[in-house]
Amino acid sequence: MGKPKFWDKEWETKPLKELEEEQSRRLKWMVKRAWEVPAYRAKMKEAGLKPSDIRGIGDLHKLPFTFKKDFIGNYPYGLLAVPLSEVVRIHTSSGTKGKPVVTCYTMRDFDYWMNLVARNLTSAGIGKGDVFQNTTQQAMFTGGLGYVEGAMKVGATVVPFGPASPERQLQAMKEFGTTSFHAVPSYALRLIEAMHNLGFKPKVDLKLRVGVLGAEAWTEQSRKRIEDGLQIDTYNNYGLAEAGGPGIAIECSEKTGLHFWADSFIIEIVDPETGEPLSPGEEGEIVITNLWREALPLIRYRTGDVARLLPYEKCGCGRTHPKISWIKGRLDDMVKIRGVGLYPSTIEKVLLQFPYVVGEFQLVLYGVDRVTLRVEVDKDFMKRGDLEAARREIASKIKEETLLTMDIELCEEGTLASEAGGKAKKIVDLRTL
Ligand SMILES: [Zn+2]
Repeated sequence: MGKPKFWDKEWETKPLKELEEEQSRRLKWMVKRAWEVPAYRAKMKEAGLKPSDIRGIGDLHKLPFTFKKDFIGNYPYGLLAVPLSEVVRIHTSSGTKGKPVVTCYTMRDFDYWMNLVARNLTSAGIGKGDVFQNTTQQAMFTGGLGYVEGAMKVGATVVPFGPASPERQLQAMKEFGTTSFHAVPSYALRLIEAMHNLGFKPKVDLKLRVGVLGAEAWTEQSRKRIEDGLQIDTYNNYGLAEAGGPGIAIECSEKTGLHFWADSFIIEIVDPETGEPLSPGEEGEIVITNLWREALPLIRYRTGDVARLLPYEKCGCGRTHPKISWIKGRLDDMVKIRGVGLYPSTIEKVLLQFPYVVGEFQLVLYGVDRVTLRVEVDKDFMKRGDLEAARREIASKIKEETLLTMDIELCEEGTLASEAGGKAKKIVDLRTL
């Protein structure tokens, strides 16, 4: 197909030192723009800062953090650095916990954003000749239209199918000859089951070869299931509405972490309690500074997402941009049990080692730090498998990985989601009741 290896070779392979010089230049620009927004100016004044105090990335740490509450408090347009008439597009976060975060683009921002998404897709090997199907919501979610339009930019034939039952989605993939798609990982897992229900064979009934997945925490174990089940290659990508949507970080063919576009963002990892920057390799909260968006400045935004900056090394793909690890989860999703911080992704990583485990799981916390782990297993296994051995095996692996003793309860696939009337809640904390 003659796919380009890079969307923007010059920028994607620029030496790190030059990328850092660019970061310094653009940070100064961004700080000046933020100064025009009353909420940012107030914060900077409170910290005793004026724009000229920021001379480069060495001064980044002097700048105050931006929090989600700053977005909520200035809903919907309070953080704009341009008149609303200059804004050509508005998106929001999902806003499951109250008011959503509003994110805005000028025409220049929109073009810039599309080039970042095009870099992502090219990194995943998607381009002209591909039929690209989007499976996510295509309204306010940045990942929906963002990928639909980005895929057009790289020359793919785009099928904006949007949300549907996995069976209908696959049927469309078969009919349109879809080669690549964008989805959230839990949905990609459901496509495997649907494929069996429809009697489709990968590579025979389907032309799928690559999936771009993200927008929720997942693990290498679920990647293996998706890749084996659908017989595709997958690329983990990271983005969030506040920082502009997708086009922040994605894996390359080397699959050793996610390159983040360092000419366009500064990523720091900080200790979530003290806000102190951490060193590469240390796990903490991702803090993002946007370096390109004129409509909506973003300085040192506390994302609530947990990951590591990876020690810098030259990547085999030729890109020079630094990498972050996979996202371990959100700080909101972490529970402390007997002093141990636990993320749902850690449980998922353990459970997916067992082939009879399918579907959802749920941690129920009660009493003084007692934990029951409810695990959905395959229907046949529930009838004919050795359930006692399975419980022992799961409990032992969980203990090994988390140092926690849990009671294991097995239930048939579909139980947890139907109890919850849709998507199962991963953690039920009854300790405070
Ligand atoms: Zn690479």
